[in-house]
Amino acid sequence: MKRLMMLGPPGAGKGTQAQQLAVELNIPQISTGDLLRAAKKNQTDLGKKAAPHMDNGKLVPDDLVIGMVVERLKEEDAEQGYIFDGFPRTLKQAESLEEMGVSLDNVISIIVSDEEVHRRLEARRTCSECKAIYHLIFSPPKSENTCDKCGAEGSIYQRADDTPEKIEERLRAYKAQTEPLIAFYQEKGRLIQIDGEGAPEEVKKRIQKAL
Ligand SMILES: [Zn+2]
Repeated sequence: MKRLMMLGPPGAGKGTQAQQLAVELNIPQISTGDLLRAAKKNQTDLGKKAAPHMDNGKLVPDDLVIGMVVERLKEEDAEQGYIFDGFPRTLKQAESLEEMGVSLDNVISIIVSDEEVHRRLEARRTCSECKAIYHLIFSPPKSENTCDKCGAEGSIYQRADDTPEKIEERLRAYKAQTEPLIAFYQEKGRLIQIDGEGAPEEVKKRIQKAL
């Protein structure tokens, strides 16, 4: 049984690392963004309640998010463990999770400097057609405005979220709301700190070694 969580600022590579670890350990990667979208699409009870918040671009209330996670954990593929990606996001969510009897074995905290977060996210580009992600320095598309993956032309753009101002805002929100989780899990003796600088492959090796 491996119950894990990936913690870190935007651009730390949580999603990438969680995805690889999930495959390696044969456990599901659970992201609340995916859960919310699926619940809305499938019109579940919780999905119907969450939909108006999502449509208005508001945060979905904690009780709905946690309800969805608890429901998801009952599925068969989560019996041997799971890895949370970007959840819990606040101290309150972490505490509610414990109260619901959902406890984590290890929390992997990926540490990346603010400068590195800016460097990574400002150069990020996305394909509007297939959602492929590029990085202008590390993994640029072969020709400037054509997507390598789906061939769409003029589809590569910078997400409004990845502008310098928005990145600063996201970092501030992370520090105020999510960073306190580091101390919370450290006190419980479950925190693993990982240096998140360098290539994803190197970070992956550090995580494997630490686990
Ligand atoms: Zn594409």
